[in-house]
Amino acid sequence: MLFRDKSFLAAALACALSLCSCAKEPMKGVIITGQNNHNWPVSHIALQRILEGSGMFEMDIAVLPPAGEDMAGVSVDFGKYKVVVLDYNGDSWPGPMREAFLEYVRNGGGVVVYHAADNAFAGWEEYNKIIALGGWEGRDEKSGPYVYWKDGGLLKDTSPGPGGSHGARHEYIMNRRIESHPVIDGLPERWKHATDELYDRMRGPGDIKDLLYTAYSPTEKGGSGREEPLVFTVEYGKGRIFHTMLGHCGDTLEDNPAMQCVGFQELLIRGAEWCATGKVSRKVPSDFPTETEVSLRKDYKESGR
Ligand code: ZN
Repeated sequence: MLFRDKSFLAAALACALSLCSCAKEPMKGVIITGQNNHNWPVSHIALQRILEGSGMFEMDIAVLPPAGEDMAGVSVDFGKYKVVVLDYNGDSWPGPMREAFLEYVRNGGGVVVYHAADNAFAGWEEYNKIIALGGWEGRDEKSGPYVYWKDGGLLKDTSPGPGGSHGARHEYIMNRRIESHPVIDGLPERWKHATDELYDRMRGPGDIKDLLYTAYSPTEKGGSGREEPLVFTVEYGKGRIFHTMLGHCGDTLEDNPAMQCVGFQELLIRGAEWCATGKVSRKVPSDFPTETEVSLRKDYKESGR
């Protein structure tokens, strides 16, 4: 084929590229980190790799100042983002940032609550509605009931006591608790999660919208002896919230089984996509864990990508 001039060639090439490019523009998201009782310098990199590795997201990182430093001027331009991933457990955000965050969620923003982000801000009432359940940081019966799965439904238990605990880390079975939801459609009813903490005795307003997965917290591991809600959605205004209690961060990116778990990664990506769009476009990956076998992606990369 002959092209008469270069501009025609360029136009033809651009046309061909746009036709064959099935990848959409990645959606913008932000990971808020910088203070945590967990290993945030590793966890935020793992979260970024997993989400960007899906090809669906381009993640900014907002590293807030260290504990005790002046936060007065700190802000995040939430309106720029389709999803906000919370990897933060630390000092209070300044008032304008708190207000901007609530406005973002009320107006339909997407929020992923990741692991110890549900330890944060025990005294911030609206934040606790957004996370639905939280732990530690002085939480008790004033924070809301204990919420756990019993006799085929979620039970709200108002008995007094501290909110938030966990036993020794171990591998455990995740139990699906909903017939259908974009985040879990196609995923197995039961699958084995790699070694992780299992948050139990969490308390809060407890207004879970859709409970996706629970796991049994065994007393012999120091747990509650209850079936604990670990992965669920919350509604706040027009906003979509995806809360995963999974993913206790290890010492290094290489030694980080809870976040290397394919189940953790797939739920994170699907949860983030659902927060951003209300839909999930992904197929179930072939290396998803089974009921008997855990499955890790040590490099946080999907096979074939
Ligand atoms: Zn942890």
